Amino acid sequence: MEDSSLVNEIWLLLVLLIEGPLLWIASLTLVIGIVVRLVGHTLLFIKAAKNCKFWIIINNLFGMILPYHKIVKKKFYLLILFYIFHIFLFSIPLWLNGHIILIEESFLNLYWSPLPDAWIDIMTLFILISLVIFLARKCIFADLRNKSTYKDYFFVILTGLPFLTGYLLMHGTLNNVIFLGTNMLTFHILSAEVTIIMAAFLFCQVRIKEMCTGCGACICNCPVSALKLKDIGENRNINYRDISCICCGSCVSICPENAAVLKHVVGVKYFLSYFEYKKIKSVDLALCQKCGMFFVSKRQMEKIFNLIHENYLQICPKCREISVAGSFLVINRKG
Ligand code: SF4
Ligand code: SF4
Repeated sequence: MEDSSLVNEIWLLLVLLIEGPLLWIASLTLVIGIVVRLVGHTLLFIKAAKNCKFWIIINNLFGMILPYHKIVKKKFYLLILFYIFHIFLFSIPLWLNGHIILIEESFLNLYWSPLPDAWIDIMTLFILISLVIFLARKCIFADLRNKSTYKDYFFVILTGLPFLTGYLLMHGTLNNVIFLGTNMLTFHILSAEVTIIMAAFLFCQVRIKEMCTGCGACICNCPVSALKLKDIGENRNINYRDISCICCGSCVSICPENAAVLKHVVGVKYFLSYFEYKKIKSVDLALCQKCGMFFVSKRQMEKIFNLIHENYLQICPKCREISVAGSFLVINRKG
């Protein structure tokens, strides 16, 4: 009996912590995360405006929120699903009646009209089904599976938990289940707190994998100069700046080697390098056989050698095209 009352007391303390100070800490962390990003973007806009790079400002302002990137044409349905998913992801917590009442009753004393519960239900189910689809894609498609780590699966599940617990809470679905039913509100708040803290330190970043040849196609296709190429000595470095990236995916879709990937990452350390260009890939350069200058990526040169056959110069331009296209197919299949 004594043991169970001790466990109860500990649980009650945890509940008080989860529904009190932890909620404030999570909200404050999110606010700080948003403010840091807003300040960073404002500084970026000022700098771009000074250099008259208005296209970069427009891309940075609307690139992330409007589906007008080149990649939309390639993966139209998937990207529309992503956009609706993200709109609902932010709208549900903001326009849910229960949340608005909480904010009204807090010291903020703010109120705005909530969305009808039926709409919230539909949007929540959309979020949950989308997450299942995202998970299923990662499991089914080999290329996605190979690019994913256990953290990617973890993020997807963690993102869904506040929505799942919120839905179960609103409908009382598990009310009769011992412990879980009576504490669903606490589980909902706890999962929301974890997700909020994660969101404060969440970044969508470009990563470049080993098979990169340093061709530079991704850099040429980046609409906001988030990627830059710099040759230093015998190395070609690809530098990347988080704050500039609008996660449009152009670099991913253009990469002939499937080396560029967009990933969600979480960590305080990413804030430290958020505003700077940092090296994300380095490849070796080859020397010019005549003047001894480094001038092209070794891997790129190797690839060109593989594509061009010995008798290349002895065939007409049309046959060269066919021959090179055939070689690309073979290489990509091998890849
Ligand atoms: S990531 Fe792809 S497109 Fe970019 S340099 Fe490497 S191989 Fe080229
Ligand atoms: S780095 Fe890639 S994803 Fe980011 S803005 Fe440039 S092209 Fe788009």
